[in-house]
Amino acid sequence: SSQRETHNFQAEINQLLNLVINSLYSHKEIFLRELVSNASDALDKLRFRSITEPELLEGAPELAIRIIPDEAAGTLTIEDTGIGMTHDELVKNLGTIAHSGSREFLDLASKRGQKDVNLIGQFGVGFYSAYLVADQVSVVSRAAGKDSQAWRWSSDAKGSFTVETAEHATRGTAITLHLKQDQKEFLSEWRLRELITQYSDYVSHPIHLQVKKTTGEGAEEKTETKLEVVNKASALWQRSKSEITDEQYQEFYKHLSHDWEPALTWTHFRTEGNQVFTSLIFVPKHPPFDLDSQKPRGVRLFVKRVLIMDNCEEMLPQWLRFVRGVVDSDDLPLNVSRELLQDSAVVQGIRKHVTKKTLDMLEKLAKDKPDDYRTFWQAFGPILKEGLAMDVEYREKIGGLLRYESSREEGLTSLADYVSRMKEGQEAIYYVFGETRKAVVDSPHLEALKKRGYEVLYMTDPVDEWAIQGLKDFQGKPIVSAMHADLKLKETDEEKREKEERAKGLGPLAEKMKEVLKEQVREVRASDRLTDSPCCLVVPEGGSHAFVERLLRERGR
Ligand code: ADP
Ligand code: MG
Repeated sequence: SSQRETHNFQAEINQLLNLVINSLYSHKEIFLRELVSNASDALDKLRFRSITEPELLEGAPELAIRIIPDEAAGTLTIEDTGIGMTHDELVKNLGTIAHSGSREFLDLASKRGQKDVNLIGQFGVGFYSAYLVADQVSVVSRAAGKDSQAWRWSSDAKGSFTVETAEHATRGTAITLHLKQDQKEFLSEWRLRELITQYSDYVSHPIHLQVKKTTGEGAEEKTETKLEVVNKASALWQRSKSEITDEQYQEFYKHLSHDWEPALTWTHFRTEGNQVFTSLIFVPKHPPFDLDSQKPRGVRLFVKRVLIMDNCEEMLPQWLRFVRGVVDSDDLPLNVSRELLQDSAVVQGIRKHVTKKTLDMLEKLAKDKPDDYRTFWQAFGPILKEGLAMDVEYREKIGGLLRYESSREEGLTSLADYVSRMKEGQEAIYYVFGETRKAVVDSPHLEALKKRGYEVLYMTDPVDEWAIQGLKDFQGKPIVSAMHADLKLKETDEEKREKEERAKGLGPLAEKMKEVLKEQVREVRASDRLTDSPCCLVVPEGGSHAFVERLLRERGR
């Protein structure tokens, strides 16, 4: 029996469609890369499921993508033999957005409009980019599995879509774009070939393009259509580095991350020995707007070229969660489960190696491209710093990657550069922590240090105070808070005598103050660390740090 339903798009989708149709004028050709990217994902998902359900491949074993231009009809069809979608999946996947905070994000993007196309790109236009070039789109899909029914989804992007029963010979999805009058260039064979090569060469499944071939001459001449594979159809990370261009790496990154902006840097390596695996790791330029949403995209795990998991958290520590990439292991079993991953020695070996390679890559970026490193540091420094407190093993290496502003007032400095500038007799690396730059610059805790000409690191990131305690020292120099009560600076005998005199003189005043302040302070004592300010608050030995106290306060404890 046939059936036809009309559904309204979720409000967010209408907003997104509006942005796509009215704001994104340039690079309309990216629709092809988005649709091919989805087809590739659908094929990967099928291949994964067929490990345990081989019957899914029955009758149609080929995993491929077909691109079919039809000049007479003015349509372009992108077809795959992947996992397909059921009726409910069509309605959900192509009618709603799963991102949390999407409403706020889309409001922001609408306001900025054309000025910030990249913003909307970060959000991921995905399937809806079809409406850059088409005014009518239909999706015929049949989920893998016996007796599944095919359905047609179609919409002109004006608030609603319809879903009805359809015919489709095999499993998979066919997306047909009714091209707008001025977008017919996407029917041209050479244009399509160019776009596939430029954007989609990384796809590990064959992409067939339907082309016209003329044979014979005169009365014998006839034109027929033929399918031609136009990509290399091998996993990009398995190719040798010298065969991959930067552009190809970047397109692969965009497929993986759903980011429209190119990656900042990457590292591609293969190991032999204890574990045999290949990995390709990217660092994005900016944090995704939904770093904490339900759809994290970290490292994709492959086993012998088969995609096993989209976001395999076990491959990298938490504090490298901004990294995107793939790990392809030859040692793990194809049917590896989450539980197995958690206590697998193979996984631990891989994780260690990938972590080290990632930190090496960042070191290299800092050395070779300081401007790019600054971009990285601004975007992900706070996350990387968590590693100081969480992972003793990598302290040294992370320590080398830290950057802070300092009393030198010349932008960011590394700890190594700080140490190289240390004054004669200076025994420690000093830092001051505060909520804002202004607060740290004006901090009375700095006076004694400044007087001696010691440089002080400014820490204004909330994570700093907790994180830096994990480091303790760097290149043999202790790292000391300027706020800490037992701050001891080298003093001359003269200074020592003066200090004792002063303390004696201030004794009665200190006692009086303690009387007045009662329980609010533990002790009032004379200090030699102030030069201009009359007093300051310090943390007593064993007392909790200001950051922790503020946290407790904020939570109403
Ligand atoms: P994303 O790829 O970021 O998830 P898209 O807008 O590109 O977002 O696609 C939305 C969803 O629609 C996908 O997550 C997938 O579930 C489904 N989908 C899109 N294209 C296909 C396809 N060719 N085969 C199967 N499912 C698809
Ligand atoms: Mg997509």
